Amino acid sequence: MSQFSYQDGVLHAEGVSLSVIAEQFGTPTYVYSKAALLANFAAYADACRGRDALVCYAMKANSNLAILDLLARQGAGFDIVSGGELLRVLAAGGDPRKVIFSGVGKSVDEMRLALSHDILCFNVESIPELHRLNEVAGALGKQARISLRVNPNVDPKTHPYIATGLKASKFGVAFDDALATYRAAAQLPHLDVVGIDCHIGSQLLDDVPLLEALDRLIELIDQLGAEGIELHHLDMGGGIGIDYREQGEAPPVPVGDYLERVFARVDAWRAARHNGKPIKVIFEPGRSIVGDTGVLLTRVEFLKHGEEKNFCIVDAAMNDMARPALYQAWMDMQPVVQDGAEAAVYDIVGPICESGDWLARDRALAITAGELLVMHTAGAYGMTMASNYNTRGRAAEVMVDGATPHLVRQRENPADLYALESVLK
Ligand SMILES: *Cc1c(COP(=O)(O)O)cnc(C)c1O
Repeated sequence: MSQFSYQDGVLHAEGVSLSVIAEQFGTPTYVYSKAALLANFAAYADACRGRDALVCYAMKANSNLAILDLLARQGAGFDIVSGGELLRVLAAGGDPRKVIFSGVGKSVDEMRLALSHDILCFNVESIPELHRLNEVAGALGKQARISLRVNPNVDPKTHPYIATGLKASKFGVAFDDALATYRAAAQLPHLDVVGIDCHIGSQLLDDVPLLEALDRLIELIDQLGAEGIELHHLDMGGGIGIDYREQGEAPPVPVGDYLERVFARVDAWRAARHNGKPIKVIFEPGRSIVGDTGVLLTRVEFLKHGEEKNFCIVDAAMNDMARPALYQAWMDMQPVVQDGAEAAVYDIVGPICESGDWLARDRALAITAGELLVMHTAGAYGMTMASNYNTRGRAAEVMVDGATPHLVRQRENPADLYALESVLK
């Protein structure tokens, strides 16, 4: 059930009118629904109930402390991609022993920080990274638990920028090199080889490629077992897509159905070849936890009618929401107030001095200058990708809980933006 719905012709987040939020907090503002967030996490948690499984929220999708806090209280672990993200987990009260650390370029300092907090696992992506981690752990007198990110070379059929499991991708270890890389890892004295992981892409509407990847991981785990390298967990990565409401686009696979198919496959395999001995299964969902829990609220500055195009110029821009500019992503936009005005077709653009600064193209909208619009399904890869281009302070963030809006991030002031700068003496 969507937590964003029209009540008496005005769009609400749960019980709060978005017009009221705009008055109280200004625009542009990201508005999140707590109930939607908890429901999305529950879809994973319910499917995992009674199993040896862990849901590690991929926090690069949205790392606001309020979101991390709510998820940590529900028992979530976290998939991090930097030392900064680990510090956010700690600041939000998350458990570092449920943290896995992904990414192709972990620095020595980041490794030290993660080891000092005894994180669950490093998802290692290359041989040089194995050696660096072994050295850093040795110097600290610690053992690092590791998994190898294997590139199963299945085509996720998504946008090339968010496909990550193909041979030509910068991520992971090639499938054909995986055995040799595991053998090398097993020789390093300060590493404990505990798992295997993959992440084949994002916004996958179908779980067929994910289940194909699972089969390839299973194949490797069996080959490793035959050599005496026993893995304790298998990590499916993230990637389940969400409904951006684009016309004609298929709905994404329900999370519960996907997890059920993974567990059924894993159970059948363990029963047949490991005498029923279980293996822990980890998921790293990002978008499917937060994507549909947020909207970007923006106000129309001007309507500009041209010979070939009409432009709806709003106060949000590509620095607030980069997905359209970056991936040509289609995101639904609607007026906050349905007032029956006559519709025209617009490109919805921001004030930034770039032609790439657009949020949506060719949309029929009944809107007048000064009114409010929302961009739907903006909870994932929205605020976390925001920048200060054009010295624009980043948007405020508000989380609605029932009838109460909570400011969970203040709007940045221009003075904040140059506070760390200095002129030559
Ligand atoms: C980005 C990322 C995820 C999350 O992907 P979604 O498509 O948002 O679910 C999970 N794991 C890794 C390694 C990632 O880089």
